[in-house]
Amino acid sequence: MNGRAAHTPGCSRGLPVGSPAAGKVLFTDTHVREMVAAVLESESLPPIVQAGHPVLRAQAVPFTGQIVDADLARLIELMRATMHAAPGVGLAAPQIGIPLQLAVLEDLYDVPAENAAARSREPMEFFAILNPHYTPVGAETASHYEGCLSVRGWQAVVDRAATIDLAFDDETGSARTRRLGGWQARIAQHETDHLSGTVYLDKAHTRSLASDAEYAAYWARPGIAEAQAVLNF
Ligand SMILES: [Zn+2]
Repeated sequence: MNGRAAHTPGCSRGLPVGSPAAGKVLFTDTHVREMVAAVLESESLPPIVQAGHPVLRAQAVPFTGQIVDADLARLIELMRATMHAAPGVGLAAPQIGIPLQLAVLEDLYDVPAENAAARSREPMEFFAILNPHYTPVGAETASHYEGCLSVRGWQAVVDRAATIDLAFDDETGSARTRRLGGWQARIAQHETDHLSGTVYLDKAHTRSLASDAEYAAYWARPGIAEAQAVLNF
C-alpha cells in the first residue's frame, strides 16, 4: 500500500462495500518457481507491476514449500527493500509479478501527530505473511483515502473493517494470528486482498477517486467529510 496516502480521520459509517469477484486460478507452482528465480537472479529491485497486469487479477498460489527456505528469506528481504524504495507500507508478491500468497508489511514512517491520530495510525514493525486470511472483529468500519503502488498516481476512499483478526503462516511455517486495528488493519486488508486478485479500487467509492495532485490540492486534510460533500459519495 502507498506510504504517502491520506491525511484523513477515523470515522465509522455505513456498511462495508461487498466483496468483489475473486481472481481466477491462472498460475501454478511452476510459475511461482520461475518468477521467484527470475526476481532473485536480477541484480536490481524488481519493478512494481501496474493495474492491467494479469498477475494482479489472479488468485495467488498458496505457499506450500515451492521454494526453499533460503530463497524465501531472500525474496522477503527483496520485497522489503522494494517496499521501502517505493515508498510503501505494504507490498504483495503479485505486485512484483510473483503469483504467491506472500506479502510484507511495515509502517515506521514519521507521521504528523494530528494525521496519525485521525487515522489511528500506530507504528508497525516489519513482518511477512504467508497464506493470510482476515476476519472482521465487530461491525465497526473506518473510511479513509488510500492508495496502491500498483495504481500509481491515484487515491480513493475505502470503507474497511476497523479491527481484524489476521491469520497467517510466518516464514518459519508457524501458524500465527494477530489482532490489528486502525491503519495497521487497513494495510493488512489491502495486502491480503491482493492475494485473491482484488485491488483497492474494487472496494472504493469511485466518486472519491482523486489524482495525487488533486488530492493534495483539495482533500489532504483531517477528514473526508468535505470530500464526501463535494464529490458526492
Ligand atoms: Zn496495493
